[in-house]
Amino acid sequence: MTELPARRLLLVHAHPDDESINNGATMAKYAAEGALVTLVTCTLGEEGEVIPPELALLASGFEDRLGPHRVKELAAAMRELGVRDHRFLGGEGRWRDSGMRGAEQNRRPGAFWGADLDEAAAPLVEVIREVRPQVLVTYDPDGGYGHPDHIQAHRVAMRAADLAAERAFRRDLGEPHVIGKIYWNRLPRKAAEEAFAPLPAALPGLSFPAAATVEDVPGLSDDDAVTTVIDGRAYAGAKAAAMAAHATQVEVEGAWFALSNKLAQPLFPVEFYELVRGRAEGAPETDLFAGIA
Ligand SMILES: [Zn+2]
Repeated sequence: MTELPARRLLLVHAHPDDESINNGATMAKYAAEGALVTLVTCTLGEEGEVIPPELALLASGFEDRLGPHRVKELAAAMRELGVRDHRFLGGEGRWRDSGMRGAEQNRRPGAFWGADLDEAAAPLVEVIREVRPQVLVTYDPDGGYGHPDHIQAHRVAMRAADLAAERAFRRDLGEPHVIGKIYWNRLPRKAAEEAFAPLPAALPGLSFPAAATVEDVPGLSDDDAVTTVIDGRAYAGAKAAAMAAHATQVEVEGAWFALSNKLAQPLFPVEFYELVRGRAEGAPETDLFAGIA
């Protein structure tokens, strides 16, 4: 095996853009500090809505060519974050975006929501045993806000973490590996309220027609759910550039961005986590690798 960097961080996400929106500053920071940052994305995001009118034909309801386009957007985003190790779960296009909860795409053959859990976990076990991360980041059991692919990404990530550690499981996928610390993404209400506070005053200077409010943000968590705070303010520019690289999904203007609903919302250069496996060092903890030998 080639020599691995001392610190290794694995992130598991559902669609291209989720990584930059949720963890862009964290990824840029650890990549800049020399850690191996590995991103596994579970689908190509084929069912996303398309913001730029000139690209509208890519959408699944028209020519259905959004997936390959988003592969390129993701590659561009990774260049902005300095992340070189990026993979799609089971290979590009193995599982497809399931669409929003209740959409008929949920039941389509190949939709990630319908994937067999152990079948989908196996290629992730192989990645875990190869890059041997000390830290895993993924969503909470509700997928942050209930999107079927986010819920499934959570299940697959947690299952793969367990299976990768099992001595008896699929030795053809590599030597067993125990991930020391597992985190779920969090956005605490208080931090969200603070970030939204200056938005009404900033809105007239932006091209977005309206502003979101805190109540528009799905999946806010209680402040005391947060164990770990990563101050990525030095990497805010990289995060913004990575988000902007997902141009079919995100529009960025300075410290603000909008999704396809066009509602301005704040970009978070400080990112929040809940440690669910392993021991936190400090309250709040300020380094995902704290306590790792
Ligand atoms: Zn997503």
